Amino acid sequence: MTETTKVFGELQTYYSKKNVYYQTITAILEAALEVGLPHRLELILAQPKNELVVNFPVQMDDGDLQLFQGYRVQHNNVLGPYKGGIRFHPDVELDHVKSLAAIMTMKCALVQLPFGGAKGGVRVDTHKISPNELMHLSRRFTSAIMTNISPVHDIPAPDVGSNAQIMAWMADTYMNLNGPESRFDGLGVVTGKPIEFGGSAGREKATGQGLLFVLEQLLPGLDMNLDKLTASLIGYGNVGSWTGRLLARKGTTVRAVMDHTGAIRNDDGLDAEALAEYVAEHRGVAGFPGGEPIDEDDFYSLEVDLFIPAALEQMIDGDKAKLLNCKVVVEAANAPTTPEGETILLDREVSILPAILCNSGGVTVSYFEWKQNRQAETWDEYTVDQNLRAMMAGAAARVLDAAHRYDCSLRMAAYAAALEHLWHVYELRGIFP
Ligand code: NAD
Repeated sequence: MTETTKVFGELQTYYSKKNVYYQTITAILEAALEVGLPHRLELILAQPKNELVVNFPVQMDDGDLQLFQGYRVQHNNVLGPYKGGIRFHPDVELDHVKSLAAIMTMKCALVQLPFGGAKGGVRVDTHKISPNELMHLSRRFTSAIMTNISPVHDIPAPDVGSNAQIMAWMADTYMNLNGPESRFDGLGVVTGKPIEFGGSAGREKATGQGLLFVLEQLLPGLDMNLDKLTASLIGYGNVGSWTGRLLARKGTTVRAVMDHTGAIRNDDGLDAEALAEYVAEHRGVAGFPGGEPIDEDDFYSLEVDLFIPAALEQMIDGDKAKLLNCKVVVEAANAPTTPEGETILLDREVSILPAILCNSGGVTVSYFEWKQNRQAETWDEYTVDQNLRAMMAGAAARVLDAAHRYDCSLRMAAYAAALEHLWHVYELRGIFP
């Protein structure tokens, strides 16, 4: 029996090896073994503190009621209030949310933010409901989880399928239901809000911007320079489109993009700005006039320097990893590479820049937004970016340092650096009472 299966056995939790929560916790426990984390902390981190499932009705435009299922998982709060996004997607289920919540704990620890890890979501296809129904669903979900969130306890943010407008509805619902003090204090209950309603400059692009700052730190060590590179992206939503645009502005040629509507290619470089406008209007890349359609296998096997998954989990499995023809996988999405995919890529000497480092710019600027809300301040975009660059440089340096000390992959190094910080804080705080 491996150390990892022993932990699951002790907790009496059993998962299939393909389960994304199992894969996430296994990777964390492998790093725990490397750093010599005390067993009691392995047990604490191998399961979330709280798992909330809510079933709630929404009145649809035709007057009928439809029942939806939503989740809020609070994984760990030793470093501060729980923090993590809200996903609106038809495939949302509890183990996915648990996995994403655990990843948030590790991400906040790596960047050394004063936040714990959480995640939430609702199983819904937002393409199949009206804007009015989406508003009612967002408000009703907020009221269903309301006693579990607050600006000092658990602070949601956008994730796949949610956006600044949905955060505005969530904050407004919370502020209306929580009495006069929350008319001001309540603003910090969610981040990723519109700028006019307590949002931060630079939050919308923050995940992509943070990824660019991480690349600035790590690519020179791989003998690469952004202005001479080619890239392809899965996903052209918030994270993918900002990453694509910022890379293109630095001179990288974006050769191909795939999303849920299809894949497109242009060897001279897709026009990243025009593509973002097209996707906003047509809700997908299919039909973009500046590229030719290609099939999925051609997309994965296209030769590029950087392959950037920025969509859903587990998209680079063993079969896809065999197809990839890139030097570096830059994980913009959470948990996009399965363990089998990772083994194949590392055997083929493809570098993998891990998600908890690459996409931590989003939660970092969420932290800046929360700070501005609590201090009634407004930072300009320059200030946000300067602070973000410094935080990303610090996190990247910790990953490189851990990779050197433990002589391990960058993923294990990122988890090791995060675990060292969590361990230190647990030692300082002790276990109550
Ligand atoms: P989004 O909803 O804005 O975009 C999601 C993208 O994924 C879309 O382009 C969609 O077409 C694509 N997609 C969905 N299903 C697909 C499929 N089957 N095949 C190919 N593409 C598919 O979401 P986002 O906010 O950009 O999040 C993307 C990833 O980044 C997620 O893993 C999320 O957890 C992670 N992330 C987001 C943030 C943030 O600030 N939004 C921060 C950190 C990490």
